[in-house]
Amino acid sequence: MNPILVVGSVAFDSIKTPSGEVSRVVGGAATYFSVAASFFTDVRVVAVVGEDFGDSAAKVFGGRRINLDGLQRVPGETFRWKGVYGDDLNSRESVYTLLNVFADFNPVLPEPYRDTPFLFLANIQPQLQTRVLDQVRAPKLVGADTMNFWIEGAPDALRDVIKRVDILTINDSEARQLAGEYNLVKAARLIRQMGPRVLVIKRGEYGVLMAREDGSFFTAPALPLDTVIDPTGAGDTFAGGFMGYLASCGEITDANMARAAIYGSALASFAVQDFSLDRLLRLTWAEIEDRYQQFRQLTQF
Ligand code: AMP
Repeated sequence: MNPILVVGSVAFDSIKTPSGEVSRVVGGAATYFSVAASFFTDVRVVAVVGEDFGDSAAKVFGGRRINLDGLQRVPGETFRWKGVYGDDLNSRESVYTLLNVFADFNPVLPEPYRDTPFLFLANIQPQLQTRVLDQVRAPKLVGADTMNFWIEGAPDALRDVIKRVDILTINDSEARQLAGEYNLVKAARLIRQMGPRVLVIKRGEYGVLMAREDGSFFTAPALPLDTVIDPTGAGDTFAGGFMGYLASCGEITDANMARAAIYGSALASFAVQDFSLDRLLRLTWAEIEDRYQQFRQLTQF
């Protein structure tokens, strides 16, 4: 069993979807990732929150295989983000992104974290992703995610990160933006030339497209759902299930990556069924296995 280290945002989100509106609920890329990955392996979180985070860390991370020695709590306000979704839930506008305590965050890894074999650089300033990467000794596998905010705002720092990762997981519009190419097959080729051996393109309700090292593709659907309440964090949840499962296998084969994509998709299908992390926090292992079987039926012919 390989532990996994994640750096990324831990946040307070305000979200509006056609199903309703919530404000100042727990969110953040590293939060969704950690909770999802903790179903498969031990997780170590590197992030920062403000004093206003209160007992939210205990509520979300408590009682799970999540170590918080790398979660700093400092004076100031927690990262805040507000997103508003269109009727189709595929389009989303970021109303504001307030880095707050992340603006001055200096991630210093606790000594035992430095030998973590699996590393995931979840969505946050690319400079912080690099600082964490620099402190880990000989990781077995490095994955990363990012967002249009950083593709536009810190393109050079982001290129430096992408150069050093094995697996990049981004969504389709980010892949197009990063590659400057609309066709996803061509975009995948261009992005893999930037460094990553494997590219996983997340396509929301259309599932995921994985471009492998030998140039071949694997694709997994998203579970058809009649109720989607809040898509926030679906991508991070997918990444947590995907990387968490891979870390639990140890061996990085095409077959394990395919199963990891199904586990990631199964976890993400739960995340979207309630606001914030509410559905994930009620989730049981039996429900995950049941959904994994539903994916098997969905794709069998
Ligand atoms: P996703 O829906 O997978 O894109 O992830 C949404 C989560 O990412 C939310 O919980 C936000 O708190 C967080 N987030 C939004 N914008 C950023 C950003 N620029 N950097 C880091 N995290 C962000």
